[in-house]
Amino acid sequence: MDYLKRTWAEIHLDRLKLNMEGFRAALGRDAAGNTAQIMCVVKADCYGHCDRAIAPFLQDTLGVDWFAVSNLEEAVHMRDSGITGEILILGYTPPEAAGEIERYDIIQTVTELPYARELARYIAPGKRVRVHIKIDTGMTRIGLHAQGVSGEAAVNAVCDEAQEIVRTPGICAEGIFTHLAVADSDAPDDAAYTENQRAMILAVAAQLKKRLVLLEQVHYLNSAGGLYLNDSQSTLARLGIVLYGLCPNPALAVPFPLHPVMELRSRVAQVKTVKAGTCVSYGRTFTAPRDMEIATVCAGYADGYPRALSNRGAVLVGGKRAPIVGRVCMDQFMCDVTGLGVKSGDVATLIGTDGCETVTADDIAALCGTIGYEIVCGISKRVPRVIFRDGAAYNVYK
Ligand SMILES: *Cc1c(COP(=O)(O)O)cnc(C)c1O
Repeated sequence: MDYLKRTWAEIHLDRLKLNMEGFRAALGRDAAGNTAQIMCVVKADCYGHCDRAIAPFLQDTLGVDWFAVSNLEEAVHMRDSGITGEILILGYTPPEAAGEIERYDIIQTVTELPYARELARYIAPGKRVRVHIKIDTGMTRIGLHAQGVSGEAAVNAVCDEAQEIVRTPGICAEGIFTHLAVADSDAPDDAAYTENQRAMILAVAAQLKKRLVLLEQVHYLNSAGGLYLNDSQSTLARLGIVLYGLCPNPALAVPFPLHPVMELRSRVAQVKTVKAGTCVSYGRTFTAPRDMEIATVCAGYADGYPRALSNRGAVLVGGKRAPIVGRVCMDQFMCDVTGLGVKSGDVATLIGTDGCETVTADDIAALCGTIGYEIVCGISKRVPRVIFRDGAAYNVYK
């Protein structure tokens, strides 16, 4: 098939379903047995996985009706891809775009009162922009922030500001939310921090209710929060990384099997036998300690395969591990296939499973000093996404 030419990412939709079912079962339940509704986070091209294939699958096959994106372009792109459910923009949108937000029936995050007033200034008379109000409870990123006060005074200050936003003509406030900074940690100190964040958003919600400011949604769970907090009060759970089958924190167990949705494969361009003492790749950072078979693979950092893997990590060829040798180049890298019987044209698995061996994005992240999120988000546009469903490839997105 066409996509087998060089380097491609396989995206397995069936695994999304398993991950979502596992996550849903792990969510806390209230007295009536209800859980948070799932809001699928499809920002950054579904964390590099291909939103054009995934979002419609989530909506039409898995029945998801809440989506979150990072910006207006992504939101409009989701509408153009047939998403009719609710779409929340988690980040900043220039207020001049208020009309476009309204026209596409998108929900915008409001970070502070002056921003809400700016949005309102740009909306046509008689129209309203739907918003969720972000409360900064400890992430110190975006959101209403009570300056110089804490505790009850902070709750009141935030509620005063939120109330002004709700009252702003042209603004239709439907929810409040916050973002947890350390929900993926079980250190006692971090657990206390998370509990404080949760207490604050719930206190704000309760105080607003007391003031008869009625908002339908109050949400704060991300993947880690949904897995570890046993919370039944967040009305939505913003499911990101776990949907794609990766852990929020590989050091903490996930209470159900995760199925990584992306596999990254490439092909062996050439295999050569080299003498001991032969240098490999730029900078001569690797010298063969003995006679070796070296395979050149058709992927590099321009495909999002990190250069930090130079002389670290391994790929899988024929179900065996082939350690990377020398520097990863822009479009190619070399690996040691001595004795593995590898030949030109063989498939190399960079992320995923081959036989009994697996390399995960988290494994690669650990070697590169980063997180799995960054690895999958970084797989570049040059890499076609091959969509699998019921075990078979059915579409290729380039
Ligand atoms: C990205 C993001 C999420 C999803 O986080 P995961 O750790 O991937 O589940 C949730 N909420 C906000 C505000 C985000 O920016």
